[in-house]
Amino acid sequence: MELIDGKATSAKIKAEIAAQVAGFVAEGKRSPHLVAILVGHDGGSETYVANKVKACDACGFKSTVIRRESDVTEEELLKLIGELNHDGDVDGFIVQLPLPRHIDEQRVTEAILPEKDVDGFHPVNVGRQSIGLPCFNSATPAGIVELLKRYNVPTRGKNCVIIGRSNIVGKPLAALMMQKGIDATVTVCHSATDNLKEICRNADILVAALGRPEFVTADMVKDGATVIDVGTTRVPDATRKSGFRLCGDVDFDNVSPKCSFITPVPGGVGPMTIVSLMQNTLKAYLNNNIR
Ligand code: NAP
Repeated sequence: MELIDGKATSAKIKAEIAAQVAGFVAEGKRSPHLVAILVGHDGGSETYVANKVKACDACGFKSTVIRRESDVTEEELLKLIGELNHDGDVDGFIVQLPLPRHIDEQRVTEAILPEKDVDGFHPVNVGRQSIGLPCFNSATPAGIVELLKRYNVPTRGKNCVIIGRSNIVGKPLAALMMQKGIDATVTVCHSATDNLKEICRNADILVAALGRPEFVTADMVKDGATVIDVGTTRVPDATRKSGFRLCGDVDFDNVSPKCSFITPVPGGVGPMTIVSLMQNTLKAYLNNNIR
């Protein structure tokens, strides 16, 4: 069994990006600039945004966090997005989700110009990704594919089973895995899937993205499979200073001995999601400079 080290891989990619950016700066160009809009004070969102800022620092990017209180109106948020859409100094921006319930997330997502949508959530980017056109790929799926490539996990002709059909993980990952060049045969499972265990046991690559701690047990995994654990559920843990620990969707201790490759939680897919955001921001910057 080989552990897929997302933390080390992401550090390597950030160093590669930083070297590229240093070259642009040496030529007298400005650095790429990512803006994050953070609404309210949700603990998880604060952590995600702080980690994105840290990643920007590591890549040599400029970053700006724009904070709004949780009573911000949808119109105010849309106005801010309109301003960022037309700010030539901003290459890309994200609105950290989830948003307060009185704000329509889909409306907010669609207000971002596709050219600046470095999260890859706008329907234009989702559509372009699904037909294999240049776009900003959805971050978590792109991070997973990058890990598979960097660890030389064979994908061509392999059965890839994805548990979960969300718009940010399951669906876009299915589109990527079946694309020419990756060439996996993809099955997407969800809460209404019959014979889930049997389907999973047929997977050469099993991706768990359902948000149920330790749901994938050893009897669901074929010998020699590659297992990618996307799940990150906070479970109470009195021994931690934070009072919780992050738990994946895979029963790691019992599943890992059967695997060829497996990602840990934390330190697997999570750091790669942030790196994909950095890669998309660099791409937006390059597009901006070409225009
Ligand atoms: P989501 O929107 O809640 O979707 C969960 C999916 O899992 C749904 O499609 C659901 O089916 C399916 N599901 C739930 N219970 C199931 C069961 N018992 N059997 C089969 N399928 C089941 O979740 P998400 O946003 O994709 O996130 C999934 C997990 O990944 C969460 O733990 C989240 O925190 C984590 N995540 C991590 C990263 C990262 O960077 N590491 C990024 C994104 C998400 P239905 O559609 O039928 O309801």
